[in-house]
Amino acid sequence: MSDLMISVSGIRGIFGESLTPEFVLKTAAHFGVFCQRKKILLGRDSRTTGEALFNAALSGLLSVGCEVVNLGIVTTPTLLLAVEESDASGGICITASHNPAQWNALKFVDNNGMFLYPEKAEKFISGLSNDVVYSRWDRLGAVSEDYDASYRHVAKILKSPLISPEEIRKRKYKVVLDSVNGAGGVISPYLLRELGCTLIEINTQPTGLFAHDPEPVSKNLDQLVKAVKKHNADIGFATDPDVDRLAIVSEKGEAIGEEYSLLLAAKFILSLKTAPVVTNLSSTMALDDIAEEFQTKVLRTKVGEINVGKLMKETGSTIGGEGNGGIIWPEIHYTRDAVAGMALILALLTKSDKKISELVADIPRYYSCKKKIPVSEVSSAISFEKTVSLFPNTKTDRTDGLKILGDKFWVHLRKSGTEPIIRIYSEAETIKKAQEICDKVIRSIT
Ligand code: MG
Repeated sequence: MSDLMISVSGIRGIFGESLTPEFVLKTAAHFGVFCQRKKILLGRDSRTTGEALFNAALSGLLSVGCEVVNLGIVTTPTLLLAVEESDASGGICITASHNPAQWNALKFVDNNGMFLYPEKAEKFISGLSNDVVYSRWDRLGAVSEDYDASYRHVAKILKSPLISPEEIRKRKYKVVLDSVNGAGGVISPYLLRELGCTLIEINTQPTGLFAHDPEPVSKNLDQLVKAVKKHNADIGFATDPDVDRLAIVSEKGEAIGEEYSLLLAAKFILSLKTAPVVTNLSSTMALDDIAEEFQTKVLRTKVGEINVGKLMKETGSTIGGEGNGGIIWPEIHYTRDAVAGMALILALLTKSDKKISELVADIPRYYSCKKKIPVSEVSSAISFEKTVSLFPNTKTDRTDGLKILGDKFWVHLRKSGTEPIIRIYSEAETIKKAQEICDKVIRSIT
């Protein structure tokens, strides 16, 4: 039996084991009460368990008197935007994001169209063990449908004054899209056709039968790489099942790595509007180089999308996100959005008049090493001072675990919020150095 993972970023589990329809019904009812039994938008990704869990959540919400708007199968950023632009008190996304198909999850959205801030999420989670007070028989909620949220989402992107759909259309880009049969199979082709692209679609049926491991990391993009080469395309785009992470394959058929999605988007936005870039402590230092090129700086937060979005809002940042392919473009909204990301990358191609591989070659190259060790292997006498002493002449940041920053290298160790592991990420100018740094840190804590 797998454990249910309950954290401020949502509740995840394996369908029928840790995550059951009964649990989803009760948790959705709790959320309805938490939102004063008012209007809630409900949507899901394409997972095979989505419809069953959607109906469980719907039942829970109606039973506490909520008015529920059914958005159907939508991307997470689409649902977040729809909540922001409506008078709803909140929303629930039923999606396990990039997790394999047997997983599903609930993510809770506040009335501002962002995920619950950590303090609020903790408050909500702490009330889950209480009994639900269901509404009286004559005070139950009602359900209505809204299947246009994806069109409004694309319309908002196309209306941005920072991109010029007419100019992009003139280029007639040949694009291969891999939506891994997730929720992006409808909205992404619609956006790309609106931008005049000649589109080759792979895995764009929202069946939830994922054609490959759904995390859009380079090792999972073989099918897209082959298709880009075969069709001689200008670019390949891959998204995860709920379309908040974007990965790119260059016209040479190279999976360039998720880190580049935010780097390229930042390059485009900063060339038009200079403001601080916000990302988390574990994202690449190439972003600092790009920020410097445009005379601005990078602000870093604890790991977690909501932390990044929140600081962007507070600082007036114009672009930010995470190194996992999560682009946050606040002109659309303060959450990771791969649909908006595709528009930004095509706008950059158009404005620069370069190929995607040339744009990538312009960005300083660093190498990362990502390791994890079980908490049980960590020495009980762990001392950050001992680890820091191994790296003289460095700075430290203790916002989220420990980050050590040296000259052209960094290492970040932090306890995972969702698994009993310690993550150790490093970055340096060579892969050898990045690996050595990671190993040195692991030896100091085990
Ligand atoms: Mg996702």
